[in-house]
Amino acid sequence: MSKKQNSESVDSVLIKRLYVFFEPYKWWAITAIILTLSAAFLGTVRPKLTQIAVDDYISVGDIDGLLWIIFLLGVALLGEFIILIFNTYITRWFGQGVLFRIRNAVFEKIQGLHVQFFDKNPIGRLITRTTSDIEALSELLSDGIVNMLGDLFRIFFILTFMLMMSWELTLISVLVLPVLFYSTFWFKGKVRIAFLNVRDQIARLNSFVQEHINGMAIVQLFNRESKEKERFEAINNEHKDAHIQTIFYFSIFWPIVEVLASVAMALVVWYGGARALMDEVTFGVLLAFIQYVRQFFNPIRGLSEKYNTLQSALASSERIFDVLDTKNEVLETKKPIRPDKVEGRIEFENVSFRYNSDQELILNNVSFEAKPGELLAVVGATGAGKSTLINLLLRYYDIEEGEINLDGVDIKKMSLNYLRSNFGLVLQDNALFSGSILNNITLGKETISREQVIKVSKEVEAHNFIKKLPGTYDFELQERGASLSMGQRQLICFVRAMVYDPKILILDEATSSVDSETEELVARACKRMMIGRTSIVIAHRLSTIQGADNILVMHKGSIREKGSHKQLIKRKDGIYRKLYELQYREQAIGKIPVN
Ligand code: ATP
Ligand code: MG
Repeated sequence: MSKKQNSESVDSVLIKRLYVFFEPYKWWAITAIILTLSAAFLGTVRPKLTQIAVDDYISVGDIDGLLWIIFLLGVALLGEFIILIFNTYITRWFGQGVLFRIRNAVFEKIQGLHVQFFDKNPIGRLITRTTSDIEALSELLSDGIVNMLGDLFRIFFILTFMLMMSWELTLISVLVLPVLFYSTFWFKGKVRIAFLNVRDQIARLNSFVQEHINGMAIVQLFNRESKEKERFEAINNEHKDAHIQTIFYFSIFWPIVEVLASVAMALVVWYGGARALMDEVTFGVLLAFIQYVRQFFNPIRGLSEKYNTLQSALASSERIFDVLDTKNEVLETKKPIRPDKVEGRIEFENVSFRYNSDQELILNNVSFEAKPGELLAVVGATGAGKSTLINLLLRYYDIEEGEINLDGVDIKKMSLNYLRSNFGLVLQDNALFSGSILNNITLGKETISREQVIKVSKEVEAHNFIKKLPGTYDFELQERGASLSMGQRQLICFVRAMVYDPKILILDEATSSVDSETEELVARACKRMMIGRTSIVIAHRLSTIQGADNILVMHKGSIREKGSHKQLIKRKDGIYRKLYELQYREQAIGKIPVN
């Protein structure tokens, strides 16, 4: 019993929350409700009119009266027909409007969430939230709610008309209702759980497909097709089973309603027939009751049918609100600071951090400083925590202990937009979007002119390859920039970072994919661009960072060595020196001649 109440209150909370999205359409919704009410009345008044026709006019041979009733019957029928046309249009129209608003809200929310959220939620699942979960709501909003209301109105009118004619026969007609109610409650509980399961399975399926299409080249390379097909089949199977589960409950429930309707009809015919023969009930009333009983079970069947839609929609909206309720873990303070000017001094003070609480410390008591205009290089083995420094500096994640300051201001106290707007970032694997090269560089910022873009492109050596593309800067990239090479993508991101003229430049393995010649050209361009900017460069190839003012050598989350190339190379057992000798030897014996 308490479980039932619980799910009831969950439903009402969900409906209340959905209402927020309805708000702008509320007058249309009210119009739709009034129209539905009228249609329900016109639909249920007809048996009553038949009863009047039989008892008051046919039995006494009043032709004029009969014609009058037939006219009214026609008006009721036509009226219902016209109202239904209007109502269908109105409800679908505002239903789509509500969906539009929900979709926007979900996307906006996802876009603003902290990066960790995306570590924990597969992309496919989030796509399901913004598309098919909202689609499931669509069925409810387009006509589900209004039809359900219509059914309720019909039940109300039918009961009223029946009671007006004979309370005894009404009682007989509703004798089966307790059984019906009981089975409805049973059904409701089962179906709700089944539908939650269905939505889960859809999300799993989407995640799987999305991930595998993304990694198709690897799947094919390793001949994983048959294995992956098996895994897909397993997931697909569970998806199918989840659906079949819901069908199972419906296939039990529908026949129950059908049988109960027939039993009610039989009772009315038996009891009402006997009464009519005894002249205690008129034939008109009996006729009307037979029609009403049939009409009565239609909306009940309709309600249970739409319950399907409602459950599916509520399950979906629960998921959607889960996303909307996700707390952003990277938050701004009440009054975020937006300094007038940024010099570019970066300080890490005793910073410790881990991504998840079950991890060991990824950064352990890290402290360093980059003065305005300085070039700071970070080197260290894979997994040492170099990129993590950047993630923290840009507040993709928040630190546990210590402080990170920009120009002496704790970055937690700064406006997030403002903080990030000061950085230019080029990574090893960069995000490009479908659209023209120009758009990928400016990201839609109108104040950046085409000339500016071309100028910067020339400086970072990107112009050479762009000008050879069909349409040059208007060349349309495919999704994720798949039509370009890795190095070309990196060059575009260089242009993107530079064109925004950031105060601080961050390069994380930014030239790892371009050839040595281009790397050298880009390095020269970078040198020019680093003038007047603080720069943090993470590199595996030490040759690229020898000119740095300061080099941090990271090892397993700690800074082991700090100093300029000259200082570090002097340390006998230093990590840097070892790394340098290793790379130097490689180059010396390597086949590629080094400058
Ligand atoms: P590379 O030279 O390969 O880029 P890195 O020094 O940049 O290595 P980081 O990316 O900073 O290394 O990763 C440091 C550690 O943090 C690694 O052990 C990694 O497993 C862990 N890590 C990185 N990103 C996450 C994440 N999103 N969630 C959990 N752990 C992470
Ligand atoms: Mg890294």
